[in-house]
Amino acid sequence: MYRLGCVFAHPDDETFVAGATIAKLTAAGNRVDLFCATDGDAGKSSGIPVSSRAEMGALRRAELTTASHVLGIASLSTPGHGDGVLKEVDPDRLIGEIVYFVRQHRPDVLLTFGPEGAPTQHRDHRAISRAATAAFFLAGLESEYADQLREVQPHSAARLYYAAWDAPAADAELKALSVPVSCRVPVTEHLATKRDAFLAHASQRQHEKRFMELTMGPAERFALAAGMPQPRPVTESFFEGL
Ligand SMILES: [Zn+2]
Repeated sequence: MYRLGCVFAHPDDETFVAGATIAKLTAAGNRVDLFCATDGDAGKSSGIPVSSRAEMGALRRAELTTASHVLGIASLSTPGHGDGVLKEVDPDRLIGEIVYFVRQHRPDVLLTFGPEGAPTQHRDHRAISRAATAAFFLAGLESEYADQLREVQPHSAARLYYAAWDAPAADAELKALSVPVSCRVPVTEHLATKRDAFLAHASQRQHEKRFMELTMGPAERFALAAGMPQPRPVTESFFEGL
């Protein structure tokens, strides 16, 4: 049994990027933990009445809890940073929070966005990619964030993966490219669970067309960014050869 640590920016990122892969892993008895940096309090609510950013954040945090149950995620870490302004958080603080997450849950593989920030190129996605990449390397060093060592011990995940995708069609709405795909996880049997997790994010229903078009294919796609080399150029699991 393996452990996956997911590090994303907003409630629903986990479902868009890797919902079916997470469902597949947890159904097979593996453990998945999720760090979600913001409460997603800046977005629209798909018609659900919300009177303040605080109320929106509470709603989305509750939706994330429900979606996590659907996907079988074991634990949620939600520091509650501001949605849309993640790059304004002191990088050392954000990296330290992710280092603590890695040391606490001791994943075999860490998953985050690529530096381009997913097809939306969202600035929060780009910021969490930078922080998670730094944390991947720093979490194993006892000289980094040494104040944490009273509670948790250094830990190095074996591999870091980024979310990735194939080049978009010429007429696609989102034209951003990703780093080349090196892991295609077959997920057809878990797409129904992924859709249930999306529906749990009820405030995000306005994105349903994009969700169905971009994320409901037969494989979820990722790219090895760092760590132990894969045993073949394109794998079907984060954990091949570990
Ligand atoms: Zn997002």
